[in-house]
Amino acid sequence: MITDFQFREGEKEYFQRIFPQAQRIVVTTHKSPDGDAAGSATALVGILRALGKQVTLIFPDTLPDFLKWLPNLDGYMIYEWETTKADIAIDEADLIFSLDYNRLHRVGSALEQKLRSKTTDFVLIDHHEEPEAFACVTYSHTRACSTAELIYAWAEQMDWLQWIDEAVGTSIYCGIMTDSGSFRFASVTASVHRLVADLKDRGVNHVAIHQAVYDSNLLDRMRLVGYAISEKLHLLQDGKVAFISLTQEELLRFKYRPGDTEGLVNQALSVEGVQLAAFFREGNNEIKISLRSRGTVDVNQFAAKHFGGGGHKNAAGANSHMLMEQLLEYFEAHISEALSSNP
Ligand code: 5GP
Ligand code: MN
Repeated sequence: MITDFQFREGEKEYFQRIFPQAQRIVVTTHKSPDGDAAGSATALVGILRALGKQVTLIFPDTLPDFLKWLPNLDGYMIYEWETTKADIAIDEADLIFSLDYNRLHRVGSALEQKLRSKTTDFVLIDHHEEPEAFACVTYSHTRACSTAELIYAWAEQMDWLQWIDEAVGTSIYCGIMTDSGSFRFASVTASVHRLVADLKDRGVNHVAIHQAVYDSNLLDRMRLVGYAISEKLHLLQDGKVAFISLTQEELLRFKYRPGDTEGLVNQALSVEGVQLAAFFREGNNEIKISLRSRGTVDVNQFAAKHFGGGGHKNAAGANSHMLMEQLLEYFEAHISEALSSNP
């Protein structure tokens, strides 16, 4: 075995006995799909189609342009725009996969409501802390670097690695690469590298994937990032905290498109001496908060306590209905907690 995320009791039996009877399958991910959500989902879709299933892939909202090249996206639906069509697929489904999210509210309130109304079997595959108990199989391993890694682990344990062709491998690679900061986070183990070596043997072109995701910037996006770093990056707490905020007016000025601010919070964290970084992006009715930290500084707890959000210890997120000015004041007033609780 390359991966070591064993099935728990009853999980393999489910996939051997019950899963084969499911013909129509829906695959869902969290809101604002990132490289791991879209990568793990398209990898799973490829495997399920190879197994002869009729699959519908539903994203809660729009997919950023830098992921639209992924294989096995054909026929995907955006719930926000195609609610009626997507609802029919959900109503007709024998089984629903929940990928890369630990709690149903992460799909956004409209899709959450729809999913909660169903008694259909759910299978959750995810790597976030404390999964909500809504699925009949909760294949959740928080040590996994990405959900995409768990798709490979799932296929390996089912003895289905033959279905990981170049296209499926490409999606898995994309998920692992984006969620592991291009293979640099602590979650990247020797077995992740072995897995990637196996993907290379299956024909995956890593150069093309890095290029499609990271080297396909529009000039407006580059200027937005430049502006955010040069004009909007501020330090607090003797340089231990960095934050960037962008209002709708600023985003509009640079023709913002979904995904354009991806990675900006990591840039803030990369400043020497910074232990915690925050990014605030104003949307239509709420502000999206992204938090990152180093070492023992725990942003998961901070996001949960102050903003009802969550994620992982060193990468968490939340949404807030405060106005930007209030939110930044609130952040400034409370952020020392996140530093001092973890000396
Ligand atoms: P990002 O800042 O990249 O959007 O998210 C960082 C991490 O926090 C990811 O693991 C993501 O799943 C989690 N996360 C982001 N937004 C939210 C949120 O609103 N609620 C919760 N519970 N987790 C979030
Ligand atoms: Mn993920």
